[in-house]
Amino acid sequence: MKGIIKGLGVTLKSMTQKKITYAYPEVPIKMPDRFRGIQHFDPEKCIVCNQCARICPTECITLTGKANPDPEKKGKVIDTYDINFEICILCDLCTEVCPTEAIVMTNNFELSSYSRDDLFKNLEWLNENNQNIRQENNSAMPKGGAKKDV
Ligand code: SF4
Ligand code: SF4
Repeated sequence: MKGIIKGLGVTLKSMTQKKITYAYPEVPIKMPDRFRGIQHFDPEKCIVCNQCARICPTECITLTGKANPDPEKKGKVIDTYDINFEICILCDLCTEVCPTEAIVMTNNFELSSYSRDDLFKNLEWLNENNQNIRQENNSAMPKGGAKKDV
């Protein structure tokens, strides 16, 4: 009897305590500000310098560029930009070296898939991944684009 009362006491106490679990995925999880999530890529800012691909420790970035079609402008514009999330370790190095913040980290982390092929993300997909851009990269947000919180 004493044991039952003691057990009930523990149950009642824990019922009034603040919950430390989430009803995920129904309730989105707010990740910390410095969380390194799936990248957002802005083709307008990319100068095709190749630094992100060169520093990537797992060689998961593939990109191609072409001469700027505008004859009055010099340099290159990005043509294709792909990241293989099978091997990306979300280390943040690509965003650290990018001189124009064309590639930035977000707080998004949901990449689960039934097919490995789905883990190859192209320029369009990375460009549309513009929600929850990490707060320190707010300056990189497209106008009217990203939200700060989950
Ligand atoms: S986060 Fe790291 S592993 Fe992923 S693409 Fe960038 S440099 Fe490569
Ligand atoms: S480092 Fe930045 S600007 Fe250079 S190729 Fe990569 S994304 Fe483009």
